Amino acid sequence: MEEYKLDTLCVQAGYRPETGESRIPQICQSTTFFYGDTQKMADLFDLKAEGFFYSRLANPTVDALEKRVAALEGGVGGIGCASGMSAILLTAMTLCSAGDNIVCASEVYGGTYNLFGTTLPKLGIECRFFDADCEKEELEKLIDEKTRFVFAETVANPAIVVLDFDKVASVCKKKGVLFVVDNTLATPVLCRPLSLGANIVVHSTSKYMDGHAAALGGMIVDGGNFAYKGNPRYPAFNEPDESYHGLVYADLAVPFGTKCRAQMIRDTGAIMNPQNAFLTYLGSDTLSVRMEKHCSNAAKVAAYLAKHPKVEWVKHSSLPTDKYYERAKKYLPDGTGGMMSFGIRGDAKTCARFMEHLKLISQETHVADVRSCILHPASTTHRQLSEQGLIDAGISANLVRLSVGIENPDDIIADLDQAFAQI
Ligand SMILES: *Cc1c(COP(=O)(O)O)cnc(C)c1O
Repeated sequence: MEEYKLDTLCVQAGYRPETGESRIPQICQSTTFFYGDTQKMADLFDLKAEGFFYSRLANPTVDALEKRVAALEGGVGGIGCASGMSAILLTAMTLCSAGDNIVCASEVYGGTYNLFGTTLPKLGIECRFFDADCEKEELEKLIDEKTRFVFAETVANPAIVVLDFDKVASVCKKKGVLFVVDNTLATPVLCRPLSLGANIVVHSTSKYMDGHAAALGGMIVDGGNFAYKGNPRYPAFNEPDESYHGLVYADLAVPFGTKCRAQMIRDTGAIMNPQNAFLTYLGSDTLSVRMEKHCSNAAKVAAYLAKHPKVEWVKHSSLPTDKYYERAKKYLPDGTGGMMSFGIRGDAKTCARFMEHLKLISQETHVADVRSCILHPASTTHRQLSEQGLIDAGISANLVRLSVGIENPDDIIADLDQAFAQI
C-alpha cells in the first residue's frame, strides 16, 4: 500500500475485503470475540498472535481506521483512542513515570497545555514549555536525562505557528529523545511529520480526519523509526515486561504502539469505539479533496481579511507577509489548512458583537470540519489560562479563530463582510 500516493491511500488504505465480504468496514458492535481453542486465546493474551478478543484492547472497525491512518502517516502501527486528548495522555503515560519530564512547545492546543501544565504535574510528571520559535540552544538546555519526549504541533491551534521541524528534529536526534508531533490541523495530506524527523504522531481525529463534526476520536501512530534498543533514556523499552512473560518492547517492529496498547489501552480502556471509528473511516475517504478545498478557500478568505480596514492583523501562512510563509512552503507546500486567526480592531466586546452578526459562519467550540466556524479563544477554550499563559500561547484579547469550511468562498467572505459592516 505504501507505494500509493496520499489521495489513493485516503480511499484505499485500512481495509481490504475478501470475496463476498462488505466493501467498507462493518461496525463491529461487539465487546468480545468467540474462541473455541484455549491455546489460541492464550497466545493472544501473551501478544504471541494477532487477533481480537475484547474490544477494550482492539476491535476490527477500529483496526481498519488504525491501519488507514498509519498508512497515511507512513508509520508502522496506529492506536485509535477515545479522543485526541486521550491519545496525548496515553502517549505521555506510556513514556513517563513520576520524576520524568516533557518538553513541550507553548503554542499548543489549550487542552494539551492544561494536561501537561496542570494535570500531569499532579502525578509527578513535569512539563517544560518552550517558545516554538526559540533558538536551538534554548530548546537543548531544557532537555535533561529525565526528558522522555519533546512535543509540538505541526500547525499550532490556535496560534497558527508552523513548526520548524529541522530545528526540533535535530535537537531530538542529538539528545536521543523522542519527538512527538500533533498533526491534527495539517493532516497527513498536507504534512507527514515522520518523514521530517518525528517518531510518534498523534491526532485528534475529531477534526479534519472525520471532517464532519460527527465523531470524537484520537489516533497515535508509531513511526517505528526510533532506536530504543540500549538507549538509557528508555529503560522501560529495554527491560522485560513481566506482565507479558518477559517481552522486551525494544525488540518489536512496533515498539511504542505495542507498549501503549498492551499497558495503557489495557489499563485505561480509552480506546475508540467502533461507531466512531466507522464514521471517521467514512469521513477520511474524502480527506484529500476536502483539504484541497479548505486550503484554497482559506487563502481567499485570508487575502480578504488582510485588506479589511477593521482587521488589525491576520495569521495564515498563505499570505506572503505571514511570518511562516517561507517555512510553510518548505514543510507544507500544498497549504496549511483552513484554520486562521485574526485580530479585530477593538476589544473582546467588539469581537463578540462581530461574531453575533454572522449568519453563515457559526460560533462553536470546534474547528476543522466542512462548515465554517468561529471562536473567541480568550473567553472560551483558553479561559482557564492565566494572563501570562495566554501571552505564551500567543492569544490576545482581540484574537478570533476562524476555521474556513468548504462552502463557496464568496459566501464566506460575504458573511464576514456584512458582519464587519455592523461593528
Ligand atoms: C482538538 C484538538 C485536540 C484534542 O482533541 P479532542 O478530540 O477534542 O480530544 C488536540 N490537539 C489539537 C491540535 C486539537 O485541535
